[in-house]
Amino acid sequence: MFKAFLIKYAEIGVKGKNRHLFEEALAQQIKYALKRCEGEFEVRRTRGRIYIDVLSDYYDYDETIENLQTVCGISAICPMVQVEDEGFDKLCEDVVAYMDETYEDKQFTFKVDTRRARKNYPMESMEINASVGEKILDAFPEIRVDVHKPDVMLHIEIREHIYIYSIEIAGPGGMPVGTNGKAMLLLSGGIDSPVAGYMITKRGVKLDAVYFHAPPYTSERAKQKVVDLAKLVARYSGPIYLHVINFTDIQLAIYEKCPHEELTIIMRRYMMKIAEEIAVKNECLGLITGESIGQVASQTMHSLAVTNEVCTLPVFRPCIGMDKQEIVDISHKIGTYETSILPFEDCCTIFVAKHPVTRPNLNIIKRHEENLTGIIEPLMEKALETDELIIVSAE
Ligand code: ATP
Ligand code: MG
Repeated sequence: MFKAFLIKYAEIGVKGKNRHLFEEALAQQIKYALKRCEGEFEVRRTRGRIYIDVLSDYYDYDETIENLQTVCGISAICPMVQVEDEGFDKLCEDVVAYMDETYEDKQFTFKVDTRRARKNYPMESMEINASVGEKILDAFPEIRVDVHKPDVMLHIEIREHIYIYSIEIAGPGGMPVGTNGKAMLLLSGGIDSPVAGYMITKRGVKLDAVYFHAPPYTSERAKQKVVDLAKLVARYSGPIYLHVINFTDIQLAIYEKCPHEELTIIMRRYMMKIAEEIAVKNECLGLITGESIGQVASQTMHSLAVTNEVCTLPVFRPCIGMDKQEIVDISHKIGTYETSILPFEDCCTIFVAKHPVTRPNLNIIKRHEENLTGIIEPLMEKALETDELIIVSAE
């Protein structure tokens, strides 16, 4: 039934002279999402609007909507019925048929809103609104008109073809990826970090990612799980360059040389340091983590302050003020939850102490890190050399 879509976008409409770049990026991301859909499509930008035309006879409506809902920057998707201009009476028939098919229950108010982009159409918009409205009222006695606050806004757009639409399906909102630089996501196998990546990419930021792998303490399956999560996040962010770093020797060195209750916090500091090096090398403007205040010992205010101290790049923590349930809700929405809860250990869980510090003191931590002097530097070099780059695309 629907052969075209009108794409609505909110914030990017107000970006002044950048508008063109924003629209271009949005069109690119729409094309990226449509590549995953069966059927042939054309994305068109005309007069500050983006349209998608379905060119093929067959396409899967649900699949198309689902994929368009991964495009950051889209505020709403309007499926449009396309009819040919075969006179005004035929148009009225088409509109009545549209209303009948779209709304089973006719207990609502409506208003017709016509846009006449093709000026040689023989009637004015106001006249079309009134006459089409009358035909609808004749056809369905239950329906009423409300010009101020209609339940259904029925749009008729007259261009080369004529388009009828009234449904708005919500998109993710935000801004198109590629309009706001790039950041490095510390991606673990958990629930939080994929959500954090999504939140930042929704603001138009492209993502690279780093995963700290600790074989043989963490399995190949744990690594594959991270790759799978990256694939899911890549539906929103576009392809992700995922760096897998072998962290085992660093972890063992800390385990051997530092107090066990400080192990997690010291390990987190080295993760951040290495992530920052890779980020800088790859032109990322910040780091992203899934941390949330108070969620675990390493995420108390004291712990976060100590972890943060090693970084010079800004660290973005979009989950910082969320409860676990709020993060879980988003992970369901973006489709990462089921993968995140698969039971493969991550490298933090193997070495966790029974009673990790919750109020680490920076000076004491730094003093204990001195135990690593001379050992840790070559290990960090070595870890950076293990960098395995996996380019992850959405499937
Ligand atoms: P998540 O659900 O994202 O795994 P978490 O609640 O398990 O988070 P931690 O394990 O303390 O919390 O990790 C905090 C953050 O540090 C993660 O959100 C992630 O950004 C980063 N992180 C933790 N472990 C790794 C890892 N092995 N590789 C890359 N980043 C990691
Ligand atoms: Mg984790």
